[in-house]
Amino acid sequence: MTSVISAGKTETWTNWAGDRTCHPQAIERPTSRGQLVDLIGRSAASDRQVTVRGSGHSFTGAPLTDDVMVDLSGLSGVIDADLDSGLVKVMGGTVLADANRELDRLGRALINLGDIDRQTVAGAISTGTHGTGETMPNLPAQVAALDIVTADGEVRTFTEDDGDEMIRAARVAVGSLGVISAVTLRTAPAFNLHREDVPIPLDQVLSDFDELAAANRHFEFFVFPYTETALTLRRNPTDRPPAPRSGVERFISDRVIENGIGDLALRGLKRVPDLIPRVARFSSRFMTQSEQIDTAHRLFVNYRTIRFTEMEYCLPREHGLEALTRVLDLVREEKMPMGMPIECRVLAPDDAMLSMSYERSSIYVAVHQHATAEWRPWFEQIEQIFTEYQGRPHWGKRHTRTAAELAELYPEWDSFQKVRDELDPDRVFTNEYLREVLGE
Ligand SMILES: Cc1cc2nc3c(=O)[nH]c(=O)nc-3n(C[C@H](O)[C@H](O)[C@H](O)COP(=O)(O)OP(=O)(O)OC[C@H]3O[C@@H](n4cnc5c(N)ncnc54)[C@H](O)[C@@H]3O)c2cc1C
Repeated sequence: MTSVISAGKTETWTNWAGDRTCHPQAIERPTSRGQLVDLIGRSAASDRQVTVRGSGHSFTGAPLTDDVMVDLSGLSGVIDADLDSGLVKVMGGTVLADANRELDRLGRALINLGDIDRQTVAGAISTGTHGTGETMPNLPAQVAALDIVTADGEVRTFTEDDGDEMIRAARVAVGSLGVISAVTLRTAPAFNLHREDVPIPLDQVLSDFDELAAANRHFEFFVFPYTETALTLRRNPTDRPPAPRSGVERFISDRVIENGIGDLALRGLKRVPDLIPRVARFSSRFMTQSEQIDTAHRLFVNYRTIRFTEMEYCLPREHGLEALTRVLDLVREEKMPMGMPIECRVLAPDDAMLSMSYERSSIYVAVHQHATAEWRPWFEQIEQIFTEYQGRPHWGKRHTRTAAELAELYPEWDSFQKVRDELDPDRVFTNEYLREVLGE
Protein backbone atom coordinates (compact mmCIF):
# COMPACT_ATOMS: atom_id res chain seq x y z
CA MET A 1 0.00 0.00 0.00
CA THR A 2 2.53 2.54 1.16
CA SER A 3 6.01 2.69 -0.27
CA VAL A 4 9.52 3.27 0.97
CA ILE A 5 12.10 3.96 -1.73
CA SER A 6 15.74 4.49 -0.89
CA ALA A 7 17.05 7.66 -2.50
CA GLY A 8 20.58 8.43 -1.43
CA LYS A 9 20.66 9.25 2.26
CA THR A 10 16.95 10.01 2.49
CA GLU A 11 13.98 7.83 1.64
CA THR A 12 10.63 8.66 0.14
CA TRP A 13 7.47 7.56 1.90
CA THR A 14 3.97 7.88 0.46
CA ASN A 15 0.59 7.50 2.16
CA TRP A 16 -2.21 5.09 1.14
CA ALA A 17 -3.98 7.64 -1.04
CA GLY A 18 -0.72 8.29 -2.89
CA ASP A 19 -1.01 12.06 -2.50
CA ARG A 20 1.17 12.81 0.54
CA THR A 21 4.90 12.23 0.42
CA CYS A 22 7.80 12.89 2.75
CA HIS A 23 11.54 12.27 2.83
CA PRO A 24 12.56 11.08 6.30
CA GLN A 25 16.24 11.35 7.18
CA ALA A 26 15.88 7.89 8.70
CA ILE A 27 13.23 5.23 8.95
CA GLU A 28 13.65 3.19 12.11
CA ARG A 29 12.11 -0.27 12.39
CA PRO A 30 12.41 -1.50 16.00
CA THR A 31 11.52 -5.13 16.59
CA SER A 32 11.42 -4.97 20.39
CA ARG A 33 10.28 -2.49 22.99
CA GLY A 34 13.91 -2.22 24.15
CA GLN A 35 15.02 -1.12 20.68
CA LEU A 36 12.15 1.39 20.57
CA VAL A 37 13.12 2.90 23.92
CA ASP A 38 16.74 3.08 22.81
CA LEU A 39 15.97 4.85 19.54
CA ILE A 40 13.68 7.40 21.21
CA GLY A 41 16.40 8.11 23.77
CA ARG A 42 19.01 8.55 21.01
CA SER A 43 16.74 10.75 18.90
CA ALA A 44 15.79 13.01 21.81
CA ALA A 45 19.43 13.34 22.89
CA SER A 46 20.44 14.49 19.40
CA ASP A 47 17.51 16.94 19.04
CA ARG A 48 15.83 14.88 16.33
CA GLN A 49 12.09 14.97 15.85
CA VAL A 50 10.25 11.67 15.76
CA THR A 51 6.99 10.70 14.07
CA VAL A 52 5.47 7.23 14.15
CA ARG A 53 3.66 6.10 11.10
CA GLY A 54 0.94 3.48 11.17
CA SER A 55 -0.42 2.14 7.90
CA GLY A 56 -0.44 5.60 6.31
CA HIS A 57 -4.22 5.69 5.97
CA SER A 58 -4.51 9.29 7.11
CA PHE A 59 -5.26 11.94 4.51
CA THR A 60 -3.62 14.67 6.60
CA GLY A 61 0.09 15.20 7.21
CA ALA A 62 -0.23 13.41 10.59
CA PRO A 63 2.28 10.62 9.84
CA LEU A 64 4.66 12.72 7.70
CA THR A 65 8.14 13.78 8.71
CA ASP A 66 11.43 14.81 7.16
CA ASP A 67 13.31 13.76 10.29
CA VAL A 68 13.00 10.37 12.05
CA MET A 69 10.10 8.13 11.06
CA VAL A 70 9.32 5.10 13.20
CA ASP A 71 7.75 2.09 11.51
CA LEU A 72 6.22 -0.14 14.19
CA SER A 73 5.32 -3.08 11.95
CA GLY A 74 7.93 -5.12 13.86
CA LEU A 75 5.88 -4.70 17.04
CA SER A 76 2.73 -6.59 16.18
CA GLY A 77 0.53 -9.26 17.78
CA VAL A 78 -1.31 -10.13 20.98
CA ILE A 79 0.75 -9.84 24.19
CA ASP A 80 -1.81 -10.91 26.74
CA ALA A 81 -5.49 -11.90 26.91
CA ASP A 82 -7.64 -12.10 30.02
CA LEU A 83 -10.74 -13.91 28.88
CA ASP A 84 -12.61 -13.28 32.14
CA SER A 85 -12.40 -9.50 31.93
CA GLY A 86 -12.24 -9.43 28.11
CA LEU A 87 -9.13 -7.23 28.26
CA VAL A 88 -6.71 -8.04 25.43
CA LYS A 89 -3.33 -6.35 25.13
CA VAL A 90 -1.84 -5.95 21.66
CA MET A 91 1.34 -4.32 20.41
CA GLY A 92 0.92 -0.83 18.95
CA GLY A 93 1.93 -1.80 15.41
CA THR A 94 -0.72 -4.52 15.12
CA VAL A 95 -2.90 -4.02 12.06
CA LEU A 96 -6.62 -4.08 12.96
CA ALA A 97 -7.33 -6.94 10.53
CA ASP A 98 -4.71 -9.08 12.33
CA ALA A 99 -6.06 -8.06 15.74
CA ASN A 100 -9.58 -9.03 14.61
CA ARG A 101 -8.40 -12.46 13.45
CA GLU A 102 -6.52 -13.05 16.71
CA LEU A 103 -9.50 -11.92 18.77
CA ASP A 104 -11.75 -14.23 16.76
CA ARG A 105 -9.46 -17.13 17.62
CA LEU A 106 -9.85 -16.20 21.31
CA GLY A 107 -13.65 -16.02 20.98
CA ARG A 108 -13.59 -12.23 21.39
CA ALA A 109 -14.33 -9.21 19.20
CA LEU A 110 -14.23 -5.44 19.11
CA ILE A 111 -17.72 -4.09 19.63
CA ASN A 112 -17.50 -1.54 16.80
CA LEU A 113 -15.19 -0.86 13.87
CA GLY A 114 -14.81 1.68 11.06
CA ASP A 115 -15.10 1.17 7.31
CA ILE A 116 -11.83 -0.71 6.88
CA ASP A 117 -9.38 -2.74 8.96
CA ARG A 118 -6.04 -1.86 7.34
CA GLN A 119 -5.01 0.71 9.97
CA THR A 120 -2.78 -0.12 12.91
CA VAL A 121 -4.46 -0.21 16.31
CA ALA A 122 -2.32 2.69 17.62
CA GLY A 123 -2.70 4.72 14.40
CA ALA A 124 -6.46 4.26 14.37
CA ILE A 125 -7.02 5.34 17.95
CA SER A 126 -4.56 8.25 17.67
CA THR A 127 -6.83 10.11 15.21
CA GLY A 128 -10.15 9.13 16.84
CA THR A 129 -11.16 6.52 14.27
CA HIS A 130 -14.83 5.57 14.57
CA GLY A 131 -17.54 3.40 13.13
CA THR A 132 -21.24 4.09 13.48
CA GLY A 133 -24.04 3.56 16.03
CA GLU A 134 -25.91 5.98 18.27
CA THR A 135 -25.02 3.98 21.40
CA MET A 136 -21.49 3.16 20.18
CA PRO A 137 -18.50 5.39 20.93
CA ASN A 138 -15.33 5.45 18.80
CA LEU A 139 -12.38 3.03 18.82
CA PRO A 140 -10.33 5.01 21.41
CA ALA A 141 -13.19 4.50 23.89
CA GLN A 142 -12.50 0.75 23.64
CA VAL A 143 -9.01 1.34 25.08
CA ALA A 144 -8.63 0.44 28.75
CA ALA A 145 -4.88 1.07 29.02
CA LEU A 146 -1.91 2.27 26.97
CA ASP A 147 1.87 1.77 27.14
CA ILE A 148 3.61 4.80 25.74
CA VAL A 149 7.32 5.49 25.26
CA THR A 150 7.80 9.15 26.09
CA ALA A 151 10.50 11.62 25.10
CA ASP A 152 12.61 10.88 28.19
CA GLY A 153 12.89 7.25 27.10
CA GLU A 154 10.54 6.01 29.83
CA VAL A 155 7.74 3.51 29.23
CA ARG A 156 4.62 4.76 30.97
CA THR A 157 1.37 2.87 31.39
CA PHE A 158 -1.82 4.89 31.56
CA THR A 159 -4.92 3.14 32.85
CA GLU A 160 -8.38 4.21 33.92
CA ASP A 161 -7.55 3.19 37.50
CA ASP A 162 -4.79 5.71 38.23
CA GLY A 163 -6.90 8.85 37.74
CA ASP A 164 -8.14 9.16 34.22
CA GLU A 165 -6.46 12.42 33.14
CA MET A 166 -3.49 10.83 31.31
CA ILE A 167 -5.41 8.13 29.50
CA ARG A 168 -8.07 10.63 28.43
CA ALA A 169 -5.27 12.69 26.89
CA ALA A 170 -3.42 9.75 25.36
CA ARG A 171 -6.37 7.98 23.75
CA VAL A 172 -6.53 10.56 20.93
CA ALA A 173 -3.21 12.41 20.72
CA VAL A 174 -2.29 12.27 17.00
CA GLY A 175 1.16 10.92 17.90
CA SER A 176 2.06 14.01 19.96
CA LEU A 177 2.67 12.43 23.38
CA GLY A 178 5.03 9.58 22.48
CA VAL A 179 5.06 6.20 20.81
CA ILE A 180 2.23 3.89 21.82
CA SER A 181 3.95 0.53 22.13
CA ALA A 182 0.94 -1.44 23.40
CA VAL A 183 -2.82 -1.00 23.75
CA THR A 184 -5.16 -2.89 26.08
CA LEU A 185 -8.52 -3.26 24.38
CA ARG A 186 -11.89 -3.94 25.94
CA THR A 187 -13.44 -6.75 23.94
CA ALA A 188 -16.85 -8.44 23.78
CA PRO A 189 -17.64 -12.12 23.24
CA ALA A 190 -17.38 -12.86 19.51
CA PHE A 191 -20.66 -12.21 17.70
CA ASN A 192 -22.25 -12.38 14.28
CA LEU A 193 -23.71 -9.39 12.50
CA HIS A 194 -26.72 -9.25 10.22
CA ARG A 195 -26.05 -6.60 7.59
CA GLU A 196 -28.80 -5.26 5.37
CA ASP A 197 -28.11 -2.74 2.59
CA VAL A 198 -31.39 -1.02 1.70
CA PRO A 199 -31.77 1.82 -0.83
CA ILE A 200 -34.56 4.26 0.13
CA PRO A 201 -35.47 7.82 -0.88
CA LEU A 202 -33.17 10.41 0.66
CA ASP A 203 -36.15 12.38 2.02
CA GLN A 204 -37.26 9.31 3.92
CA VAL A 205 -33.83 8.72 5.49
CA LEU A 206 -33.72 12.34 6.59
CA SER A 207 -37.22 12.31 8.08
CA ASP A 208 -36.88 8.86 9.71
CA PHE A 209 -33.24 9.17 10.75
CA ASP A 210 -33.90 9.06 14.51
CA GLU A 211 -36.06 5.93 14.25
CA LEU A 212 -33.57 4.21 11.92
CA ALA A 213 -30.64 5.08 14.18
CA ALA A 214 -32.54 3.82 17.24
CA ALA A 215 -33.74 0.62 15.57
CA ASN A 216 -30.32 -0.48 14.25
CA ARG A 217 -27.26 -0.80 16.49
CA HIS A 218 -25.05 0.37 13.61
CA PHE A 219 -26.84 2.65 11.17
CA GLU A 220 -25.37 4.77 8.38
CA PHE A 221 -26.12 5.87 4.85
CA PHE A 222 -24.40 6.90 1.63
CA VAL A 223 -25.80 9.36 -0.89
CA PHE A 224 -24.37 10.41 -4.24
CA PRO A 225 -24.56 14.18 -4.77
CA TYR A 226 -27.18 15.07 -7.43
CA THR A 227 -29.35 12.06 -6.54
CA GLU A 228 -32.43 11.47 -4.41
CA THR A 229 -31.75 7.91 -3.25
CA ALA A 230 -29.65 6.89 -0.26
CA LEU A 231 -28.14 3.50 0.44
CA THR A 232 -28.81 2.71 4.10
CA LEU A 233 -26.56 0.19 5.87
CA ARG A 234 -28.09 -1.51 8.90
CA ARG A 235 -25.94 -3.83 10.98
CA ASN A 236 -27.29 -5.66 14.02
CA PRO A 237 -25.95 -8.48 16.21
CA THR A 238 -27.67 -11.78 15.54
CA ASP A 239 -27.69 -15.36 16.87
CA ARG A 240 -28.39 -16.67 13.38
CA PRO A 241 -25.62 -18.69 11.69
CA PRO A 242 -23.37 -17.12 9.03
CA ALA A 243 -24.85 -16.68 5.55
CA PRO A 244 -22.13 -14.72 3.78
CA ARG A 245 -22.07 -13.81 0.11
CA SER A 246 -20.38 -16.36 -2.12
CA GLY A 247 -16.80 -15.68 -3.23
CA VAL A 248 -18.00 -15.02 -6.79
CA GLU A 249 -20.68 -12.58 -5.62
CA ARG A 250 -18.12 -10.78 -3.46
CA PHE A 251 -15.62 -10.62 -6.30
CA ILE A 252 -18.16 -9.21 -8.77
CA SER A 253 -19.76 -6.72 -6.41
CA ASP A 254 -16.67 -5.48 -4.53
CA ARG A 255 -13.79 -5.87 -6.91
CA VAL A 256 -15.40 -5.57 -10.33
CA ILE A 257 -18.37 -3.23 -9.90
CA GLU A 258 -17.66 -1.05 -6.88
CA ASN A 259 -13.90 -0.70 -7.11
CA GLY A 260 -13.03 -1.67 -10.72
CA ILE A 261 -15.79 -0.07 -12.80
CA GLY A 262 -16.24 2.68 -10.21
CA ASP A 263 -12.57 3.60 -10.46
CA LEU A 264 -12.59 3.63 -14.27
CA ALA A 265 -15.76 5.75 -14.35
CA LEU A 266 -14.33 8.29 -11.90
CA ARG A 267 -11.11 8.57 -13.89
CA GLY A 268 -13.08 9.07 -17.11
CA LEU A 269 -15.42 11.65 -15.57
CA LYS A 270 -12.45 13.83 -14.73
CA ARG A 271 -12.31 14.72 -18.42
CA VAL A 272 -16.08 15.32 -18.73
CA PRO A 273 -17.17 16.62 -15.30
CA ASP A 274 -20.47 17.93 -16.70
CA LEU A 275 -21.60 14.32 -16.98
CA ILE A 276 -21.21 13.65 -13.23
CA PRO A 277 -24.82 14.45 -12.23
CA ARG A 278 -26.24 12.23 -14.98
CA VAL A 279 -23.85 9.37 -14.24
CA ALA A 280 -24.57 9.68 -10.50
CA ARG A 281 -28.34 9.48 -11.10
CA PHE A 282 -27.85 6.51 -13.42
CA SER A 283 -25.54 4.73 -10.91
CA SER A 284 -27.90 5.29 -7.99
CA ARG A 285 -30.55 3.22 -9.83
CA PHE A 286 -28.23 0.24 -9.41
CA MET A 287 -28.05 0.47 -5.62
CA THR A 288 -29.46 -2.89 -4.73
CA GLN A 289 -30.97 -4.40 -1.62
CA SER A 290 -28.89 -7.18 -0.10
CA GLU A 291 -28.35 -8.96 3.20
CA GLN A 292 -25.70 -11.15 4.74
CA ILE A 293 -24.77 -12.66 8.09
CA ASP A 294 -21.17 -13.21 9.10
CA THR A 295 -18.57 -12.82 11.85
CA ALA A 296 -18.91 -9.19 12.97
CA HIS A 297 -15.54 -7.84 11.84
CA ARG A 298 -16.08 -9.13 8.30
CA LEU A 299 -19.32 -7.19 7.96
CA PHE A 300 -18.16 -4.00 9.61
CA VAL A 301 -15.49 -3.44 7.00
CA ASN A 302 -15.53 -2.97 3.26
CA TYR A 303 -13.09 -3.73 0.50
CA ARG A 304 -11.69 -0.45 -0.83
CA THR A 305 -9.15 -0.12 -3.61
CA ILE A 306 -10.31 3.11 -5.27
CA ARG A 307 -7.78 5.69 -4.18
CA PHE A 308 -9.48 8.85 -2.92
CA THR A 309 -9.05 11.74 -0.55
CA GLU A 310 -11.56 12.65 2.13
CA MET A 311 -12.75 15.33 4.53
CA GLU A 312 -14.94 14.31 7.45
CA TYR A 313 -16.48 16.51 10.10
CA CYS A 314 -18.07 15.54 13.37
CA LEU A 315 -21.17 17.66 13.98
CA PRO A 316 -23.44 18.00 17.01
CA ARG A 317 -26.16 15.42 16.36
CA GLU A 318 -28.95 17.99 16.29
CA HIS A 319 -27.30 19.87 13.39
CA GLY A 320 -25.78 17.00 11.39
CA LEU A 321 -28.59 16.38 8.94
CA GLU A 322 -29.18 20.08 8.32
CA ALA A 323 -25.47 20.47 7.54
CA LEU A 324 -25.59 17.46 5.20
CA THR A 325 -28.63 18.88 3.36
CA ARG A 326 -26.86 22.21 2.92
CA VAL A 327 -23.78 20.42 1.58
CA LEU A 328 -25.87 18.53 -1.00
CA ASP A 329 -27.56 21.81 -2.03
CA LEU A 330 -24.22 23.59 -2.29
CA VAL A 331 -22.71 20.87 -4.48
CA ARG A 332 -25.72 21.20 -6.80
CA GLU A 333 -25.78 25.02 -6.86
CA GLU A 334 -22.05 25.31 -7.48
CA LYS A 335 -22.10 22.39 -9.94
CA MET A 336 -19.18 20.84 -8.06
CA PRO A 337 -17.64 17.92 -9.95
CA MET A 338 -18.07 15.46 -7.10
CA GLY A 339 -18.79 11.90 -8.24
CA MET A 340 -18.19 9.95 -5.03
CA PRO A 341 -20.86 9.33 -2.38
CA ILE A 342 -21.16 11.28 0.88
CA GLU A 343 -21.22 9.10 4.00
CA CYS A 344 -23.29 9.92 7.08
CA ARG A 345 -22.76 8.15 10.42
CA VAL A 346 -23.94 8.61 13.99
CA LEU A 347 -21.91 8.17 17.19
CA ALA A 348 -22.17 8.21 20.97
CA PRO A 349 -20.14 10.69 23.05
CA ASP A 350 -16.88 9.81 24.80
CA ASP A 351 -14.45 11.61 27.08
CA ALA A 352 -11.03 11.59 25.38
CA MET A 353 -9.86 15.22 25.51
CA LEU A 354 -9.25 15.51 21.78
CA SER A 355 -11.92 13.10 20.58
CA MET A 356 -14.07 14.62 17.83
CA SER A 357 -17.13 13.27 19.70
CA TYR A 358 -15.93 14.64 23.06
CA GLU A 359 -19.00 14.85 25.28
CA ARG A 360 -21.47 15.17 22.46
CA SER A 361 -23.73 12.85 20.48
CA SER A 362 -22.59 13.28 16.94
CA ILE A 363 -23.33 12.91 13.29
CA TYR A 364 -20.28 12.50 11.06
CA VAL A 365 -20.48 13.67 7.45
CA ALA A 366 -17.69 12.63 5.07
CA VAL A 367 -17.10 13.89 1.53
CA HIS A 368 -14.77 12.07 -0.87
CA GLN A 369 -13.02 12.90 -4.10
CA HIS A 370 -11.16 10.51 -6.42
CA ALA A 371 -7.38 10.72 -5.90
CA THR A 372 -6.90 12.04 -9.45
CA ALA A 373 -9.56 14.78 -9.14
CA GLU A 374 -9.33 18.30 -7.77
CA TRP A 375 -10.69 18.51 -4.22
CA ARG A 376 -9.42 21.65 -2.51
CA PRO A 377 -11.83 24.34 -3.77
CA TRP A 378 -14.88 22.13 -3.15
CA PHE A 379 -13.80 20.84 0.25
CA GLU A 380 -12.98 24.38 1.40
CA GLN A 381 -16.46 25.66 0.52
CA ILE A 382 -18.11 22.67 2.17
CA GLU A 383 -15.93 23.10 5.24
CA GLN A 384 -17.45 26.55 5.81
CA ILE A 385 -20.83 24.91 6.38
CA PHE A 386 -19.36 22.43 8.88
CA THR A 387 -17.60 25.29 10.67
CA GLU A 388 -20.88 27.16 11.19
CA TYR A 389 -22.18 24.21 13.23
CA GLN A 390 -19.12 23.94 15.50
CA GLY A 391 -17.96 20.92 13.51
CA ARG A 392 -14.76 19.22 14.61
CA PRO A 393 -12.60 17.89 11.77
CA HIS A 394 -11.34 14.29 11.81
CA TRP A 395 -7.65 14.43 12.79
CA GLY A 396 -6.76 12.01 9.98
CA LYS A 397 -8.78 13.62 7.17
CA ARG A 398 -8.43 16.77 5.07
CA HIS A 399 -9.25 20.09 6.73
CA THR A 400 -7.77 23.57 7.01
CA ARG A 401 -8.30 24.32 10.71
CA THR A 402 -5.50 25.63 12.90
CA ALA A 403 -4.63 25.21 16.58
CA ALA A 404 -6.18 28.57 17.50
CA GLU A 405 -9.52 27.59 15.94
CA LEU A 406 -9.46 24.04 17.25
CA ALA A 407 -8.77 25.25 20.79
CA GLU A 408 -12.24 26.84 20.75
CA LEU A 409 -13.87 23.52 19.87
CA TYR A 410 -12.33 21.36 22.59
CA PRO A 411 -13.32 22.26 26.20
CA GLU A 412 -10.30 20.36 27.62
CA TRP A 413 -7.78 21.78 25.14
CA ASP A 414 -5.69 23.40 27.89
CA SER A 415 -5.62 20.22 29.96
CA PHE A 416 -4.37 18.32 26.92
CA GLN A 417 -1.64 20.91 26.34
CA LYS A 418 -0.60 20.59 29.99
CA VAL A 419 -0.12 16.84 29.52
CA ARG A 420 1.78 17.50 26.29
CA ASP A 421 4.08 19.98 28.05
CA GLU A 422 4.67 17.49 30.85
CA LEU A 423 5.43 14.48 28.59
CA ASP A 424 7.16 16.19 25.69
CA PRO A 425 8.44 19.61 26.83
CA ASP A 426 11.05 19.78 24.05
CA ARG A 427 8.64 18.66 21.31
CA VAL A 428 10.43 15.54 20.17
CA PHE A 429 7.11 14.23 18.83
CA THR A 430 6.10 16.90 16.40
CA ASN A 431 5.92 17.59 12.68
CA GLU A 432 4.47 20.23 10.38
CA TYR A 433 0.91 18.96 10.83
CA LEU A 434 1.10 18.92 14.63
CA ARG A 435 2.59 22.41 14.73
CA GLU A 436 -0.37 23.54 12.63
CA VAL A 437 -3.16 21.79 14.55
CA LEU A 438 -1.79 21.58 18.12
CA GLY A 439 0.59 24.54 18.08
CA GLU A 440 4.32 24.77 18.78
C1 LIG B 1 -9.93 3.75 2.91
C2 LIG B 1 -9.97 4.43 4.25
C3 LIG B 1 -11.06 4.21 5.09
C4 LIG B 1 -11.12 4.84 6.34
N1 LIG B 1 -12.21 4.62 7.13
C5 LIG B 1 -12.33 5.26 8.33
C6 LIG B 1 -13.47 5.08 9.16
O1 LIG B 1 -14.36 4.29 8.86
N2 LIG B 1 -13.54 5.82 10.31
C7 LIG B 1 -12.59 6.71 10.67
O2 LIG B 1 -12.73 7.36 11.69
N3 LIG B 1 -11.47 6.88 9.92
C8 LIG B 1 -11.32 6.16 8.76
N4 LIG B 1 -10.19 6.35 8.00
C9 LIG B 1 -9.09 7.17 8.55
C10 LIG B 1 -8.10 6.30 9.35
O3 LIG B 1 -8.77 5.41 10.20
C11 LIG B 1 -7.20 7.17 10.23
O4 LIG B 1 -6.59 8.17 9.47
C12 LIG B 1 -6.16 6.35 11.00
O5 LIG B 1 -5.46 7.21 11.87
C13 LIG B 1 -5.16 5.65 10.10
O6 LIG B 1 -4.40 4.74 10.84
P1 LIG B 1 -2.93 4.33 10.38
O7 LIG B 1 -2.52 3.12 11.13
O8 LIG B 1 -2.89 4.26 8.91
O9 LIG B 1 -2.10 5.56 10.94
P2 LIG B 1 -1.30 6.72 10.17
O10 LIG B 1 -2.23 7.38 9.21
O11 LIG B 1 -0.03 6.20 9.63
O12 LIG B 1 -1.01 7.69 11.38
C14 LIG B 1 -2.07 8.39 12.00
C15 LIG B 1 -1.58 9.10 13.25
O13 LIG B 1 -1.32 8.14 14.27
C16 LIG B 1 -0.02 8.32 14.80
N5 LIG B 1 0.48 7.01 15.21
C17 LIG B 1 0.55 5.90 14.46
N6 LIG B 1 1.06 4.89 15.20
C18 LIG B 1 1.35 5.41 16.41
C19 LIG B 1 1.93 4.90 17.61
N7 LIG B 1 2.30 3.62 17.71
N8 LIG B 1 2.08 5.72 18.66
C20 LIG B 1 1.70 7.01 18.61
N9 LIG B 1 1.16 7.56 17.50
C21 LIG B 1 0.99 6.77 16.42
C22 LIG B 1 0.76 8.93 13.66
O14 LIG B 1 1.91 9.60 14.11
C23 LIG B 1 -0.28 9.86 13.07
O15 LIG B 1 -0.35 11.03 13.84
C24 LIG B 1 -10.07 5.71 6.77
C25 LIG B 1 -8.98 5.91 5.92
C26 LIG B 1 -8.92 5.28 4.67
C27 LIG B 1 -7.74 5.51 3.79
